[in-house]
Amino acid sequence: MPRTPVGRGIAGQLVFLGTGTSVGVPVIGCGCAVCRGDDPRNRRTRCGLAVGLPEGTLLVDTPTDLRTQLLREDIGLAHAVLYTHEHADHLFGLDDVRLFPFALGGALPIYCEPAVERRIRKSFDYCFPDADGPQPLSTVPRLAFHTIGEEPFDALGERVVPIRLRHGSLGVLGFRFGDVAYCTDTNGIPDASWPLLAGLDVLVLDALRPAPHPTHFSLDEAIEVARRVGARRTLFTHMTHDLDHAATNAALPQGMELAYDGLQIPLT
Ligand SMILES: [Zn+2]
Ligand SMILES: [Zn+2]
Ligand SMILES: [Zn+2]
Repeated sequence: MPRTPVGRGIAGQLVFLGTGTSVGVPVIGCGCAVCRGDDPRNRRTRCGLAVGLPEGTLLVDTPTDLRTQLLREDIGLAHAVLYTHEHADHLFGLDDVRLFPFALGGALPIYCEPAVERRIRKSFDYCFPDADGPQPLSTVPRLAFHTIGEEPFDALGERVVPIRLRHGSLGVLGFRFGDVAYCTDTNGIPDASWPLLAGLDVLVLDALRPAPHPTHFSLDEAIEVARRVGARRTLFTHMTHDLDHAATNAALPQGMELAYDGLQIPLT
């Protein structure tokens, strides 16, 4: 068996690994038409992206479904991870990166805010054994933290612009790569963040479901935000089983559509 790392290569592309809310779609034990139907675009794994940057593949979040997502899309290895926030659906696939440092020849770079690092050190404490204590018997993910905030930074040869977003009472980050912005898990855009969304080609935005929610934009709220941002194309993500892909898309304003797992768009 060849051991050379493989993958189809996604340079200059953004791939939606998952577009579902925290429980995914289908929902376990649900008999609704969306969960039971056969439209593959209604199969939504937990939210995350793979972004093909000049120096490698960047994961935005490590969703619970990470392993199956990377295999499904034939992404191959990733070279760094960037976190929006520390909620379990965006984080708990982190153990699946344990193989990457072998191929990369060093610890995997992790770009995140201090709160996310604290959550990782607590939830994945086996990755950080005491130097003078017993070492783990099996391989654990080797991670190298890079603290980020609201200042732009470089990752894998690309300028990344963080965008502060409100997610209920939590402050989370969206990210802008060129003229493409990814804003998941939000129900509020602070005044200072609006200029960062100017002149977008593509806006990816949280649109949970038709009904209001305390920490996510409803579909109507997301449409209103998308209109104000005015991107050429808006793709909604982090959706529940309350949104049937075909029926919802048919009713959306021009230039707006639901994303789906496996959707690929060029970075502009
Ligand atoms: Zn989420
Ligand atoms: Zn359902
Ligand atoms: Zn969240």
